[in-house]
Amino acid sequence: MDSLAQIASCIAGYDPRALPVAQAQDFIARLVPRVQAIERVAVRSALGRVLAQDLISPIDVPAHDNSAMDGYALRSAELDPAGETQLLVSGTAYAGQAFVGQVPAGQALRIMTGALMPAGLDTVVPQELTRLGSDGRVSIPAGVVRPGDNRRLRGEDLARGEAALHAGRIVRPADLGLMASLGQAEVAVLRRLRVAFFSTGDELRSVGEPLDEGCVYDSNRYTLHGMLTRLGVELIDLGVVPDRPEALRQAFSQAAACADAVISSGGVSVGEADHTKQVMAELGEVLFWTIAMRPGRPMAIGRIGGQESFSRIGGQDSRSGGGGGGGAILFGLPGNPVAVMVTFYAFVRAALLAMSGATAQPLPPLRAISVAALRKKPGRTEYQRGIVSQGSDGRWQVRITGAQGSGILRSMSQANGMVVLHHAQGDVAAGELVDVLPFDGLV
Ligand code: AMP
Ligand code: MG
Repeated sequence: MDSLAQIASCIAGYDPRALPVAQAQDFIARLVPRVQAIERVAVRSALGRVLAQDLISPIDVPAHDNSAMDGYALRSAELDPAGETQLLVSGTAYAGQAFVGQVPAGQALRIMTGALMPAGLDTVVPQELTRLGSDGRVSIPAGVVRPGDNRRLRGEDLARGEAALHAGRIVRPADLGLMASLGQAEVAVLRRLRVAFFSTGDELRSVGEPLDEGCVYDSNRYTLHGMLTRLGVELIDLGVVPDRPEALRQAFSQAAACADAVISSGGVSVGEADHTKQVMAELGEVLFWTIAMRPGRPMAIGRIGGQESFSRIGGQDSRSGGGGGGGAILFGLPGNPVAVMVTFYAFVRAALLAMSGATAQPLPPLRAISVAALRKKPGRTEYQRGIVSQGSDGRWQVRITGAQGSGILRSMSQANGMVVLHHAQGDVAAGELVDVLPFDGLV
C-alpha cells in the first residue's frame, strides 16, 4: 500500500494548495482499494450490483436456428429469380414445438416467429409478402428475399463459452434479462461497499429539533443519503457531530471501523477554527487540499482507522475482504450544501464506484448551447447549476439557474444538470457549446 506522499509523487504538478480537478481525481483513483468479497445473489437482486466474475454462457443463444418472422420457411435454391414461385405448404411449425418430419423438395412450411427451422430449409418469407391460394400453395414474388433472410442462427446472440458480461459490470435491467436468457438463477457479485457519513458543525440542528438562533438545519446528510442510495452502497448514517474533539474522534473512529469509506462534511476550510481537521490528522494519514474549482475548494482526503484504531475501539475488521486492516478512505467534504454535492459528483462518486469494483464508465457529457454569456477564470474548474431544455430549433440549450452561491441548495434542486467549465477554459460567449453533466439517466 503506497503512502499518500508516494502517490503524490506520481502526480505531475501536484500542489495541495491549488490542485487541479484532474490531478485530484488521478490521486484518488490511485488511493482507493477495491472490495474483494464475493456473494451469490438471485438474478433479480443483482440489479445495480457489481459482477464479481465474467458471466460465461453455458448455452448457445438461441439454442437452435429459428424463424425471425411469421411466414413461410423454404429452400432459397427453389426460388425462381425471374418470376413468381409457387410451393405447396406441407404443414405448420409453431414456437416451442419441434416440427416433426421432413419438408419434401418443392414444398414450404408455414412457420411462426421463434419456431425451429426444419432441417434443409434456410430462408423465411414474411407472410405479408406472400399469397396463399385455395389450392394450398403459397405464391412468392421474385426478389422479395435473399438466401438466409429472416432466419436466426443458433448462437448468433451468444455462443456457448463466450463471456456474456464482464466482471466489474454494474448490472442493468437488460443484463437481468440476459442472465435469465442463459438460464441463470444466481450470479456472483461483489459485496456492497459500506459508507459511513456524518455532518460536523455546532450550528447544525437535525430535522425535528427547534432551530435555535444562528443555527441551520443539517441538509448535507440528506443529499448524501440520496446520492449514496443512488450509487447502491450500504449506508451508515452517524448523524450530526458537534465541534468537540472527543465527539469527532469517536465519530471518525466508529465510522472507520465499520465502513470502507467515511464521508464527513464541514470543518475542512482553510483557517477553520474547529477541531475537525486536527482530529482527522490524528486518526490517520490525511491531506488537506485546496482544489482549483468552484464551488468546493477545500477538501480532506486520506486513510483513517487502520490496525491500531480497530483494536483501540475493540472491533475486529468485519469488512471481510474489504479495506482489510488498512482502515477506511476518508473524504472530508466542505460544509456548504452545494459544495458537498459538487465535490461528491466530481470526486467521491467515481472513487466509490472504483472501490465497489465497478470498471470505470465515464459519464458522457451532453453538449448544449449556453443561452447566456458566462464569466469564467482560466485555471480552475467551475460547476454551475443549469437547466437543459430543447430550443425551438430542436437543439439542446442550457441556462444557469440564478444565483450560484455555494450555500444555495434551491438552485441545485431546480437544475437538471451541471455545466462544467473546464480548467483551462475562459469566458463563454452566448451561443457557444458547453459540457453539461445531466443528473438523470435512462437506466
Ligand atoms: P464549513 O465548511 O464547516 O465552514 O461550513 C460552511 C458553511 O456550510 C457554513 O455556513 C455551515 O453552516 C454550512 N453547513 C455546514 N454543514 C452543513 C450541513 N450539514 N447542512 C447545512 N449547512 C451546512
Ligand atoms: Mg463548520
